[in-house]
Amino acid sequence: MTSLSEKVDRIEESQTIAITSLAKKLRAEGKKIISLSAGEPDFPTPENVKQAAIKAINDNFTKYTQNEGTPELREAVAEKFRRDNGLNVKASNILVSNGGKHSIFNALQTICNPGDEVIIPAPYWVSFPEMVKLADATPVILQTKEERGFTFTANDLRPLLTQKTKALIINSPSNPTGSVASEETLRGIAKLAKERDFFIISDEIYEKIIYDGNKHFSIGSIPEVQDRVITASGVSKAYSMTGWRIGFMAANEEIVKRASKIQSQLTSNASSISQAAALEALKGPQSDVEKMRVSFQHRRDVMMERLSGIDGMTLAKPGGAFYFFPSVKRLFGKSNGGQVLRNSADIASYLLLEAQVALVPGAAFGSDSHIRISYAYAEKELTEAVDRIAAAVTKLR
Ligand code: GLU
Repeated sequence: MTSLSEKVDRIEESQTIAITSLAKKLRAEGKKIISLSAGEPDFPTPENVKQAAIKAINDNFTKYTQNEGTPELREAVAEKFRRDNGLNVKASNILVSNGGKHSIFNALQTICNPGDEVIIPAPYWVSFPEMVKLADATPVILQTKEERGFTFTANDLRPLLTQKTKALIINSPSNPTGSVASEETLRGIAKLAKERDFFIISDEIYEKIIYDGNKHFSIGSIPEVQDRVITASGVSKAYSMTGWRIGFMAANEEIVKRASKIQSQLTSNASSISQAAALEALKGPQSDVEKMRVSFQHRRDVMMERLSGIDGMTLAKPGGAFYFFPSVKRLFGKSNGGQVLRNSADIASYLLLEAQVALVPGAAFGSDSHIRISYAYAEKELTEAVDRIAAAVTKLR
């Protein structure tokens, strides 16, 4: 048989997706697995949103829509970005896509040429480097420090900038660390982006899940860089709508036109029914968003206390999103009579087998001394999972 695409050989499969699928498979086989692997809120989609989708079906709103998204949804997204994020955008600056992931993919395909470099601060979300490679560009990793809460500033970026730097990807609140970039930091980065002429892709999918009274700041609201920032967000996390697959980008009109051209050849419009649901999510009552946020903050606090009691794990308090990213370095070299644990994949496999808890090895996020624990799950499941993890860790010598 003739050869297959080498590009695919150069990318990894998404570990968040792979491990979540594995946990589902093991559960179907009857194993009592608790999966803390996917970043997926456990709440049902709000009732008004579900009703809007049912109405869309009954009204036969089931045909292709405009490739860029319906005019009503684009306007609602623009209004959301103006109101919540301070972006200076109109409907023509919005492209609605099949999830936040698709928006970021479209953004990279739109701006990158072969050989371009895209800076990604690590720990990063699993898909960023692979999406950069799919755009024929090169990921350049900026290692951030745990002691500094995995944050970085413009000064940390400077040594990585070259003639080929095309863009920087930022993700605040961050998946997997939960760190939140301050307005001051983002202003410094914006200044550097203008001075050294690069784009910023700002993944703000966790913008509504932010704690301790902190306020989300959007770098695209800074007028000097508004044309070079592509802001990506969506309804998945804020409205518990992961399966509906609606994401959106806000960008300058030229970028939106070009990204839309790509989308027109790839998927066309996002699902008409999901768009109707997303419109209701954005325009309807917002009380569920806050309720879920408060609940995530409570779960964070409960988990923080319990996980801190596990000897061998060290963790920072996340400021947003719904992940812990504890260091498990102190468990390396230990074993429970069998294989010696040497890296994050070994720890994740051990916890899956011994504690029947699924979580994602840090290596997938660019840090092999950590593991990612999602706490977007019911408190009962979370506490049971931590008890199981603690018991499994205690057995290590
Ligand atoms: N973004 C979520 C996560 O990191 C969902 C899975 C994915 O698309 O990666 O778990």
